[in-house]
Amino acid sequence: MGDCIFCKISEGKISAKKIFEDDELLAFEDAAPQAPVHFLVIPKKHIANIMECSDAGLLGRLMFKAKDLAVLKGCGEDGARFVVNCKGNGGQTVPHLHVHVLGGRPLAWPPG
Ligand code: AMP
Repeated sequence: MGDCIFCKISEGKISAKKIFEDDELLAFEDAAPQAPVHFLVIPKKHIANIMECSDAGLLGRLMFKAKDLAVLKGCGEDGARFVVNCKGNGGQTVPHLHVHVLGGRPLAWPPG
């Protein structure tokens, strides 16, 4: 989509520190990390949020890749948080489906 930041990253029009890419998915470091490990996994196809996603297989592969990359990033032993913010009440600021993976330190619960 023309004005979508994550589509522009996917298309190489905006730079990002990519950590994984295939035909369907892209993972890159969050620009404002909230933990020692903080990266995002997105589908390359523009889907505004999880509620707009009708592809269960894609959602499964997205989460599975997030899990695999979390392990590669060293979170396998101590764990990590996998977050999908959705629309206003969910705190979503970039309207392109993404999974946050945060780790490397203990994270409080519940969120504010
Ligand atoms: P959310 O609030 O769930 O929509 O999270 C959007 C995330 O995208 C935030 O954690 C931002 O720091 C991150 N972000 C925004 N722009 C960029 C960018 N150009 N490169 C990497 N991360 C970004």
